[in-house]
Amino acid sequence: MSTIKIAGTLYQLQQLDLELERLLAEQQALANSLQGDPLLKKLRAEHNIAQQQLHAGLQAQKEAEWALEDLDHRLRMQEQRLYNGSVTNPKELSALQQEVQRLRAQQKRQEEMTLEVLLATESLQETAKQKAEALRQAEEKWTEGNAAGMMRRSQLEAKQQELQTKREQFVTGIDSELLKRYEALKRSKQGRAVSKVEQNSCQWCRVILTPSEMQRVRASTELQTCSNCGRILYYDR
Ligand SMILES: [Zn+2]
Repeated sequence: MSTIKIAGTLYQLQQLDLELERLLAEQQALANSLQGDPLLKKLRAEHNIAQQQLHAGLQAQKEAEWALEDLDHRLRMQEQRLYNGSVTNPKELSALQQEVQRLRAQQKRQEEMTLEVLLATESLQETAKQKAEALRQAEEKWTEGNAAGMMRRSQLEAKQQELQTKREQFVTGIDSELLKRYEALKRSKQGRAVSKVEQNSCQWCRVILTPSEMQRVRASTELQTCSNCGRILYYDR
């Protein structure tokens, strides 16, 4: 095999490796985005808080209504006693009248309080409804995006399998010493072991090759490396 051809084979291998690298980066980014959505987390937390507040509000409303019922009942009992003629003693009657008045005032205050609690609960109910709706919409959107992401993930996996197989087949045709040299260079040169020569210069570092270097790249029986960046030079005529 000519040197140019060997360098060309390594260059092709590099193209495969770069494609695999890009694929891996996309897979990683996808895995990160599928993991968790900060907006969803925030909306779930807000929805939870709104639910708890509503629960507390409904409890307060129930208690206010019970207190009002209790007062109504007590007031009815005393009014009955006051108007059914069972109490005749003036002193007792006056005390009863005072008691009825006191209960009426208390009932009025309790009615106002109950109304306030009711309005507060209504507002909490509205908030909880809004939070639930916002969460539902975000979850729906996430599921849609997730479905597309899931599909993309299996596409990427299939593509990766295909490329891996292609690479395995490809390297069987490469001398093992040469492959070792390529792998070592790849590790030390940011994944780029081979650089193309175009317009008499190294495409990676842009250094211009001297005429004698160009001559060696074209005709030498040994692989030539860039005098500046150290990468294997590949000349494609
Ligand atoms: Zn170079």
